Amino acid sequence: MKFDKILQYQKVDQELLALEAEVAKSDVRQKFMFAKKTLDTATNTIGKLKAEANELLGGYAAMKERIDALKSELDEFDGILDDVQDVGEAEHYLKLVTAIAEKIGVLEKEANSAASRIDQVNDSYKKTWEQGVKASEVYNAAKTEYNSFVGERQPRVAEIKKTLDALQKEIPAPLMETYQSLRSTKKMPAFVEYDPARKMCGRCYMEVPNDVCSKLRNAGDYAECPNCRRILFMPEE
Ligand SMILES: [Zn+2]
Repeated sequence: MKFDKILQYQKVDQELLALEAEVAKSDVRQKFMFAKKTLDTATNTIGKLKAEANELLGGYAAMKERIDALKSELDEFDGILDDVQDVGEAEHYLKLVTAIAEKIGVLEKEANSAASRIDQVNDSYKKTWEQGVKASEVYNAAKTEYNSFVGERQPRVAEIKKTLDALQKEIPAPLMETYQSLRSTKKMPAFVEYDPARKMCGRCYMEVPNDVCSKLRNAGDYAECPNCRRILFMPEE
C-alpha cells in the first residue's frame, strides 16, 4: 500500500485548498489588498515630499546664508567713496558694488522661487497627509474585516492541518516533497491514477510515451507525466 496515505492526504488537503482559494478570491481580501496599496502609495508619497521639503529647505537656508554674506560684504563699502579722490578708483569700487548687488539680486530671485516651491510641497504634503489618514482608517477597517473572515475559517483550517500533520508522519519524505512541490505550482491533484488502457495522463490528457508506459505495468508502479509533472500511479488492490 504505497499510495493509500498520500492519497488520503491529498483528499483531506483538497478541503484546505478550497478554503485557501475561498479566502484568496474573496471580496474582503480584494478590498484589504486595495486598501493596503492605497495606504502604501500615500505613505510613499509622504516620504518623498518630506525628503523634497528637507532638500528645498536646506537649499533655501544656504541661499539665505550666501545672501547675508554678500550683504555684509556690501556693508564694507559703506562710505568708502567719500574718501576716494580718483575717478578711476571710484569706478572700480562702483563696479565691485554693482557686481555684488547683482549677485544678491539673482540669489534673492532663486530664494523666492525656492520659497514658493516649498509652499507648494507643503500644500501637497498636507493634502497627502489627510489622504493618508483616511487611507489608514479604510485600511484598518478592511484589515479587521479580512482578519475576521480568515478567523472564521481558522478552526477548520487548524483541524485539517492537524489531520494532515498526522498523515504526513506515515508518508515517505520524497513522496511528500513531490506532492508539496506540485501543490505549490497548483498542479492538483498531484497523484493521478493511471489507466494503462488509455495510455494518457488523467489530468493534462497528454499521451504518455512508451518509455513512461513501460514504467507503469504493475500495481504500485509510478512515473512522472512528462508534460505536467504529476505523478501517475498504478492502483494497488
Ligand atoms: Zn500530465
